[in-house]
Amino acid sequence: MPEGTGGAGRELPWRIGQGWDLHRLVPGRRLVLGGVEIAHERGLAGHSDADALIHAIIDALLGAAALGDIGAHFPDSDPAWKDAAGTDLLERTVAALARAGWEPVQVDATVVAEAPRLGPHRERMRDAIARGLGVARAMVSVKAKTAEGLGPEGRGEAISAQAVALIRAARPAADETRRARSPGTAER
Ligand SMILES: [Zn+2]
Repeated sequence: MPEGTGGAGRELPWRIGQGWDLHRLVPGRRLVLGGVEIAHERGLAGHSDADALIHAIIDALLGAAALGDIGAHFPDSDPAWKDAAGTDLLERTVAALARAGWEPVQVDATVVAEAPRLGPHRERMRDAIARGLGVARAMVSVKAKTAEGLGPEGRGEAISAQAVALIRAARPAADETRRARSPGTAER
């Protein structure tokens, strides 16, 4: 039974969560979004790789499971997360959800960036995120828009991202049954 569901777990086996993140765009940093490195004259500042898109998704997942936030799980005061890849943190988040009895189902996200154009990178981002979540690419949506020149994103001072995530109670018993029936079959 997932943490926090109590006896009502079977009545509410689905949860949603939302996440938001923003990082400053600065010279001399790589730009990594959705697990994909993108050629740009500036990159996002941060303790880790500052992948704002994946960080927003992580917070959406943690929020759905009521497991706190990214800062609690991967504090930027901890040298272990220096330059940590967003995809690595995403996989660790999925593992934390699994320990609490949850598994990701679907993610929808929006990146707000004046530049660079993200459309050409969208499919690779979806692939990287889907891999990290352990879901099919069809379950991952990445949208991109500008801020019409307004605010920190519009002035090119920052890139932000928002995400919602749907998770469901994991069914370990069913998984065990499936494994027993088809030994050697790779999960996902
Ligand atoms: Zn972040």
